[in-house]
Amino acid sequence: MKYIKSDIPRLYFQEKKNASAIALLVGMSVSGVTWYLRSHGYKLRSRGESGAFVQRKRGRQRMDITVADREEMVRLYINREGSVRQLASRYRLSMGATRSILVWRGVKMRTSSEGLKVRYPSGRFGELHGNWKNGVSLLPYGKEFTERLKKTIRERDGRVCQRCGKTEEEEIRDRQQRLCVNHIDFDKSNCAPENLNTLCNVCNIKIGAKGKRAYWTKFFQEEQIKRGIIASTPS
Ligand SMILES: [Zn+2]
Repeated sequence: MKYIKSDIPRLYFQEKKNASAIALLVGMSVSGVTWYLRSHGYKLRSRGESGAFVQRKRGRQRMDITVADREEMVRLYINREGSVRQLASRYRLSMGATRSILVWRGVKMRTSSEGLKVRYPSGRFGELHGNWKNGVSLLPYGKEFTERLKKTIRERDGRVCQRCGKTEEEEIRDRQQRLCVNHIDFDKSNCAPENLNTLCNVCNIKIGAKGKRAYWTKFFQEEQIKRGIIASTPS
């Protein structure tokens, strides 16, 4: 389904989508969407009103949060790959519930300035965590480079999840999120295109579960060979 500018008011007022979700659907910037609404005489929802919609929507779509999900949430948070807001959206939880999960598991919450300023966590919480892999997730990579690279990988993979076949259009419709770009060997510093593939958010969570990583690494490496992305005899 393709959306055009004139769909914006319907998406915003009838389907109660927020500006960032609409921006993805219509292929515009968030400010472009809000500008469109304002310039056509529409009144935007207040922060409180839109919060209530988000809460209601999350309540309906709430996923089962497994132990593996909780571990992944801790990992993403301590590795600075996700803020409380991002995790709440990814797992369809309220921000309060997300924060409780993290606090309950002994995660020290970042202050907002710390979140911006500090690049590396102490590692203290990471080492206690079952998925800790010698700190490989902490290795830095350029954000701009990654965004551009992610786009290339999604396009190479036809914007389809390489595990379940979900399309990016479906992902945006269901979760207001793009497809993820996964590091096949779980080494965040290994951004070689053959080590990257496209997954939907649910598959990305599933394959990251403790004890299943080696299986999925091998599985996807074989897939990459079949697709001609990796040569069968690594040099
Ligand atoms: Zn999938």
